[in-house]
Amino acid sequence: MKRRTFLQGAAVVTALPVISFYWAQKNVAGVVEQTTVERLSKPHHAWQGQISKEAFSVLFEEQTEPPGSSPLNHEHRDGLYICAACYLPLFESQYKYESGTGWPSFTQPIAGHIDTKPDYQLIILRTEYHCARCGGHQGHVFKDGPKPRGERWCNNGLALKFIVHSDELPPLRS
Ligand SMILES: [Zn+2]
Repeated sequence: MKRRTFLQGAAVVTALPVISFYWAQKNVAGVVEQTTVERLSKPHHAWQGQISKEAFSVLFEEQTEPPGSSPLNHEHRDGLYICAACYLPLFESQYKYESGTGWPSFTQPIAGHIDTKPDYQLIILRTEYHCARCGGHQGHVFKDGPKPRGERWCNNGLALKFIVHSDELPPLRS
């Protein structure tokens, strides 16, 4: 290979992650959350036994529950939705809405408690999000939600626990 060709190739390889990062930020995400929570250093496998097998596969093996399967779809009381693993509050009930998708959906998360990253699992690029504390996979965020933010935070019910307003929040788990 000629040196010039090689250098051009190297430049493209170097530029690709940068280009795809900006593409993700601009076109898909448009939604980037800054975290304010200190990340636990607990390895994912250590959550086994603390949560159900089904919750583990969603939270730490990036699985998606079948649509319409979560009892949280029908939860309309005031309260908080917390991470099913570490119990960090992630969503407030006032921002839950009926998206018609079969998954619990919200127009916005609790600021700083969610971490976003591009997801290349399907052909179309999506933005997935995690609990900022334990790193548990919660769902994907889309830009087809209601105004004013226009966001749809599409969450697996298995990855959340609902705490009704009148109940005390459980302490964070480590
Ligand atoms: Zn968590």
